[in-house]
Amino acid sequence: MSAAYLDWNATAPLRASARDAMTAALDLTGNPSSVHRFGRDARRLVEAARDRVKALVGAGDAGIVFTSGATEANLMALGGIARPVIRSAVEHVSVAAARVEATVCPVDADGAIDLAALDAQLRSAGAPALVSVMAANNETGVLQPIAAVAELVHRHAGILHCDAVQMAGRLAIDMPALGIDLLSVSSHKLGGPQGVGALVVAPGIELRPVARGGGQERGLRPGTENVAGIAGFGAACTAAVAEPGCAADVAAMRDRLEREARARAPHTIVVASGAARLPNTTALALPGADASTIVMALDLEGVAVSAGAACSSGKVQPSHVLTAMQVPAAVRQGTIRVSLGPTTVAVEIDRFLDAWARIAARLDGGSRAAA
Ligand code: PMP
Repeated sequence: MSAAYLDWNATAPLRASARDAMTAALDLTGNPSSVHRFGRDARRLVEAARDRVKALVGAGDAGIVFTSGATEANLMALGGIARPVIRSAVEHVSVAAARVEATVCPVDADGAIDLAALDAQLRSAGAPALVSVMAANNETGVLQPIAAVAELVHRHAGILHCDAVQMAGRLAIDMPALGIDLLSVSSHKLGGPQGVGALVVAPGIELRPVARGGGQERGLRPGTENVAGIAGFGAACTAAVAEPGCAADVAAMRDRLEREARARAPHTIVVASGAARLPNTTALALPGADASTIVMALDLEGVAVSAGAACSSGKVQPSHVLTAMQVPAAVRQGTIRVSLGPTTVAVEIDRFLDAWARIAARLDGGSRAAA
């Protein structure tokens, strides 16, 4: 094995069916907006992919707006509704940046949204609000009680946006049953290509465009569609329904990783270990250590993981997620994220564990010597 890839929450390997769909699409000439047969062939691919995204989230009658990814989908949702915004404290930076004036709803020590606080914020919003709460956290895997959030939001005549990037394709999502009005999904987290995603819009929800310049995607996303990317995304959605990213063996491997990491380096902390979490994700800490040092040491041992959120610039900043959960600074600074997928194999976990034991012993010795 060349190296162990345990960073699926940053991006997942391309699924074979997605590659095939993209290759076939790249061989088509034709703008989906053209009325001739070439254009119609390209349009067919886009519309087939739309149906596949709908099927992934159980939203047969929803609208799908293809975007460049979930960052854009989040901006489209939050920027497209003229209402006061409330969001949880652990949202992805793309949600936080979309409406900087948003009211921030706290989470508890396990990272779950404070429903009583949300209730109070909805009452004092002054007008029916747009609420944004993610399905699963990218750093910790913690799942939010989306059905309960939806019930509360709708009781206050609000609209619920859910960033489902880390849950889609891993665990089943039934958007109508959960009561989600707007849902963001990203292709590359579920085995499709990078640079494509979608906003799923429930019937009756009206958006104003945040970009201008063309009529594509119901006027919401101007510009010629990324046909090959969209076709690959659609194929990945279908594959993820058949083979979800969080099958039972993924959960078993993650649980073994946590158990043995703690056994071999007893000062290891598993963040939010008692919370409902995605079965593929763990946030592990060596208190007193530096997360970027751990990530680099693991990389030298041939194991790829992330320090907190990898999305930004490669620069490690204090995690707003762990801060919101009131994780002590010494633990926060030493927390890394390990994330698995359906093709993760046991030898990758073994490789991680061997490296973890060595690195933990070395860093522990170092911090004692420095103390
Ligand atoms: N939301 C969450 C929860 C994410 O993990 C990510 C990707 N890191 C995004 C949004 C942004 O997705 P994309 O890379 O498609 O822009």
